[in-house]
Amino acid sequence: MDAASSVHAGLLAMDTHIDIPWPTGPDFFSPGPRHVDLPKLREGGVGAAFLAAYVPQGKRDEAGHASAWERASGMLGVIGGLGRDGAVVCRNSREIRAARAAGHVAIVPAVENGYAVGEQPGRLAELRAMGATYLTITHNGHNALADSAIPRTDLGDGSAEHGGLSALGQEAVAILNRVGMLADIAHTSKATMLQTAALSNSPVVSTHSCVRALCDHVRNLDDEQLDALRDCGDVVQITAVPSFLKAGGTAETVTLADYCDHVDYAVKRIGIEHVGISSDFDGGGGFVGWRHIGDSPNVTEALLARGYDRAAIALLWGGNFLRCMEQAEALAA
Ligand SMILES: [Zn+2]
Repeated sequence: MDAASSVHAGLLAMDTHIDIPWPTGPDFFSPGPRHVDLPKLREGGVGAAFLAAYVPQGKRDEAGHASAWERASGMLGVIGGLGRDGAVVCRNSREIRAARAAGHVAIVPAVENGYAVGEQPGRLAELRAMGATYLTITHNGHNALADSAIPRTDLGDGSAEHGGLSALGQEAVAILNRVGMLADIAHTSKATMLQTAALSNSPVVSTHSCVRALCDHVRNLDDEQLDALRDCGDVVQITAVPSFLKAGGTAETVTLADYCDHVDYAVKRIGIEHVGISSDFDGGGGFVGWRHIGDSPNVTEALLARGYDRAAIALLWGGNFLRCMEQAEALAA
């Protein structure tokens, strides 16, 4: 076994943002066209896959909110049913560690877009009960909780609607803290992000974003935002979406060197304890060298070549994110 394989095999690698096909299909348990399935997770030595119940933003009326809730709970039901054949559904950091110790792959549910709860933040407790470990507060388009980085003009969005978090959004952050679910500020506007970081008692994460100084995309975090995450003890999970990594980047032109540049920048700016790794596979992630989850040891190899040691790579590949989960769970009422 070469050095990279040995380092990779020795750590708990977690990918904190992966999409699933909806309606369901192709099968998760056989090798297939998905970027992430159980055989590829094993091939890639990834011990925890965070699968998002992603709800596209739609109209903010009663029917829209009802169908968003139906979709989110339906998807969580499917994700919650993936615990077999060596995959275990995990709802907290303790269960993830136990799955790792038993040689199983942890499947960790999450929800992407607070639109799922409409105007009822109290429903976040129900999502938590269904296993969700984090809530991405917005997707593209403002919702009842907060402003998004990318307004949906086709849905009538202005550039900003709430000026960050709405009153319901502030309530949602308090509920997330109470139930031990992480607030994810990927996709939110800068004001939403900064307000959430200031308001939350528990760690705030970006489960899938990159660095604005290296690629001027509105989904990326600027230096002020990175500093705010550091000051709150929080984490940014650098993601594998080509257009966030390089202006005009595609799956064919972006490489692991581009990815590692974003990791390096964030680590130099805010410290190794505040940076992590995510793919956004099956939701736009993937490039040369990290085409699917089976390629994940290549990321470890590239980080070793950049001079990161075993301990640093373990923090990047999930140690930091797991610490955030532990803190959120400890602070939950
Ligand atoms: Zn996303």
